[in-house]
Amino acid sequence: MRSAVVVGAGVGGLAVAGALTRTGWQVTLLERAGRLRGDTAALLIWPEGVRALRALGLGDGLRAIASPVPTRGIRRPNGQWLVQPYPATEPETEDAPGSVVVHREDLHDTLVAGLGDRIDIRTGVAVRTVRMGRDEPATVSDGRSTWSADLVVGADGVDSIVRRRLAPEATAVAAGCAAWRAVIPWYRVPKLPDGLGTGGETLGGGHRFRYALLGERGSAGASSRGGIYWAATVPGAYRPEPPATQLSLLRRWFADWHPPVGDLLAATEPEDLIQHSVAELRPVPRSFSYLAGGGGYVLLGDAAHAMSHHLGQGACLALEDAAALRTLLLDAVPGRTLGTALDAYTRDRRPRLARIMRQSRRVGAMMAANGSLAGRARDAALGLSPSLLGRVLRGSRAR
Ligand SMILES: Cc1cc2nc3c(=O)[nH]c(=O)nc-3n(C[C@H](O)[C@H](O)[C@H](O)COP(=O)(O)OP(=O)(O)OC[C@H]3O[C@@H](n4cnc5c(N)ncnc54)[C@H](O)[C@@H]3O)c2cc1C
Repeated sequence: MRSAVVVGAGVGGLAVAGALTRTGWQVTLLERAGRLRGDTAALLIWPEGVRALRALGLGDGLRAIASPVPTRGIRRPNGQWLVQPYPATEPETEDAPGSVVVHREDLHDTLVAGLGDRIDIRTGVAVRTVRMGRDEPATVSDGRSTWSADLVVGADGVDSIVRRRLAPEATAVAAGCAAWRAVIPWYRVPKLPDGLGTGGETLGGGHRFRYALLGERGSAGASSRGGIYWAATVPGAYRPEPPATQLSLLRRWFADWHPPVGDLLAATEPEDLIQHSVAELRPVPRSFSYLAGGGGYVLLGDAAHAMSHHLGQGACLALEDAAALRTLLLDAVPGRTLGTALDAYTRDRRPRLARIMRQSRRVGAMMAANGSLAGRARDAALGLSPSLLGRVLRGSRAR
């Protein structure tokens, strides 16, 4: 039986581990944390991510937890439109799905349910070493135990140990901003002014605030963990203060922004907050696959292509990686066709991912600029590059 070791049980690792077990691989999943769990915020799943989940056989699971994201525009902090909401031009179909928002814990549960019961899950295992020899099988170790397999998948996130060994040219560098996310449960959500209850996006002076509805007030909705999800980005570094102080800072930074930004921050409690230090990989790894023995290693998700969250795509791209690997590895045989399949993974995925990483950096640079100059530059960029920003910042159905 073909064997795989997956390092890391985030969205990417869980998705690929499930895909491999369901297609006849013997999988061992190694996770540093003491248990498998998602965080308490939410994720926007773009049409490509929806298609990837369906390709992974998780379409029904997604339908049960997803809330639609209506088409919407981008506002300035004073409420004026920077980009008007636009009507959907085509009906949603199986092939052209809309974007959805899901609670991360719900997505996590769906991915864990997809692992089945034949997988070997080891939590509390932090991989420390990766043995690289072209004639040796792919091997990782946590210093106490060693695991060898036909395939090792490095899905261990932005600070990936597997990538450091395989692609030392790529380094995670700070993206120059800090980000917060939170879900306010429905019972604490304030009444929103008419027309502002469907979600939105606002940009100004290098700051950004976006919110979306998880299910509906008064009903269990699509998510059992419903409420309003928001994400805020500000220029600068990770804030070391306690959550209550961070929340006070956020309320001050976004104080004069149009409704309902202030209402949502007022309804947020310190324990709702999740802060992220945002980092991106530079340069893009030369390859996402490395041959060893009759098989080899691949990098997937943030381990391969961490980027700032400005495009809000990282998890979707990890799901795409998993779906691509599933297809390429279906009939791959160690020692014969597995190496060719791994080469094809880099060939298929790298050009798209390198392009999206460049776009992410451009959006980040534009957002980092401050004041009126930034406003002009941003507006110019919106005019000059609607295919980039219109698509990216609206979290829309556009493809
Ligand atoms: C503010 C913000 C908003 C975002 N919004 C969106 C969005 O709306 N849509 C979207 O698609 N993306 C979004 N993203 C990006 C998304 O969160 C990430 O790209 C995605 O979670 C990456 O998943 P991953 O599985 O590759 O890595 P991770 O989620 O980082 O998982 C890596 C796993 O590996 C484990 N691990 C690490 N090192 C080791 C080791 N040595 N041994 C064993 N295990 C290890 C970790 O514990 C972890 O469980 C957002 C990001 C931020 C910061």
